[in-house]
Amino acid sequence: MHILVSGAGVAGLSLGRVLGMRGHRVTIVERADRLRGNGSPIDVRGDAIQVAGKMGILPAVRDARIRMTEQVHFVDENGTAIGRLPSDIGDSSDDIEIAREDLSRILADALPDIVDLRLSESVNSIAEHHDQVDVVFASGTSESFDLVLGADGMHSAVRRLVFGPEQDWIRHLGLYVAIIDMPREAEAEAERINPMYSYPGHLAGIARFKDKAIGLLMFASDPLDYDYRDIEAQKRILFDRFAGCRSWKVQTILDAVRADPNIYFDSVSQIHMPTWHRGRVALVGDAAHCASPLAGRGTSLALTGAQFLAEELERGDGDHVLAFPRYEDRQRPYAAFAQGTVEGGGALLVPPTQEAIVARNKLLQPVTAGQ
Ligand SMILES: Cc1cc2nc3c(=O)[nH]c(=O)nc-3n(C[C@H](O)[C@H](O)[C@H](O)COP(=O)(O)OP(=O)(O)OC[C@H]3O[C@@H](n4cnc5c(N)ncnc54)[C@H](O)[C@@H]3O)c2cc1C
Repeated sequence: MHILVSGAGVAGLSLGRVLGMRGHRVTIVERADRLRGNGSPIDVRGDAIQVAGKMGILPAVRDARIRMTEQVHFVDENGTAIGRLPSDIGDSSDDIEIAREDLSRILADALPDIVDLRLSESVNSIAEHHDQVDVVFASGTSESFDLVLGADGMHSAVRRLVFGPEQDWIRHLGLYVAIIDMPREAEAEAERINPMYSYPGHLAGIARFKDKAIGLLMFASDPLDYDYRDIEAQKRILFDRFAGCRSWKVQTILDAVRADPNIYFDSVSQIHMPTWHRGRVALVGDAAHCASPLAGRGTSLALTGAQFLAEELERGDGDHVLAFPRYEDRQRPYAAFAQGTVEGGGALLVPPTQEAIVARNKLLQPVTAGQ
């Protein structure tokens, strides 16, 4: 079959790998002009580790493994550690942590030759006819495919074009998050620990992995009205929200926001849909069932979803009418579990009041010398 995949994130690249391995001609279109590797490290966990094995990328994923979250310390406004996350949060034998850029590179390197990856391209319209889907691209070209797969993230264009507007499916969890590349000075600062600082409704942090440092900013807010593709608008929101804070390293992180042309900024939200397929179109990864960064399972869901879909197409001999519901049956329990894990997570990271911060801090473990 000739299959179009919209989006070259973890879900889209995984689809390219598993469908290409099975001999399908795959075209992947990615709106950005490069593979987007920024953001915080991500986790391959649970059954997704086995899936990475089936995909043939597990040795490379293990080689690129990093460990960082076990070193998270909460600090006060002067940077003095007040407690650390219990060591059972964030790392386990069931969890391989890896930089987003490394997983992206491993998946891109593993794309079979039969896969055509087109950057700076996206889908403008989708029209299904009896046995094909006609697609018009932003570049003005048009092409027909046997199947179209939307792997274009929480703000999926395929979902909007085929299933209806985003507001019908999105559930805002009351927070926004930004990840920023930090300059080298901050790296040294964060060398031994990853410090996090809370004040009511806000969280700021610096984390170090490999030879990099990233800044983290989170704040509590109702849904904001802005163009989610406009980086300058995203930056203005961050400057506005954190402007008054002179404590700890908040202004240093804001300086990094100013300097970083590619910050990651989005609402902490989930996507809930009654079905992920319609006709010859199906959704995979965040486009179908974003669980939010709080779940720490979006990457694993993208891997299992891609694998299940490819296996079911194979089992159904290419019949999407059989394959899509079977894919959905297998993937739903994983998505529902991941979405359910976020309960209370936001309030723990970003307590809304000073009293709630004090209560949260009581749950932290004391920091002793050498930790
Ligand atoms: C730059 C970036 C940074 C991220 N950082 C974090 C983070 O720090 N923490 C975290 O928990 N999660 C982060 N995420 C989300 C995380 O990657 C996903 O939850 C998870 O990996 C599932 O991946 P996905 O492929 O389904 O979606 P995504 O990773 O969102 O990938 C979707 C891809 O589709 C592309 N795309 C979007 N719209 C279109 C379109 N119309 N046409 C073509 N392509 C399109 C996007 O550019 C992107 O490459 C980030 C996502 C991105 C894109």
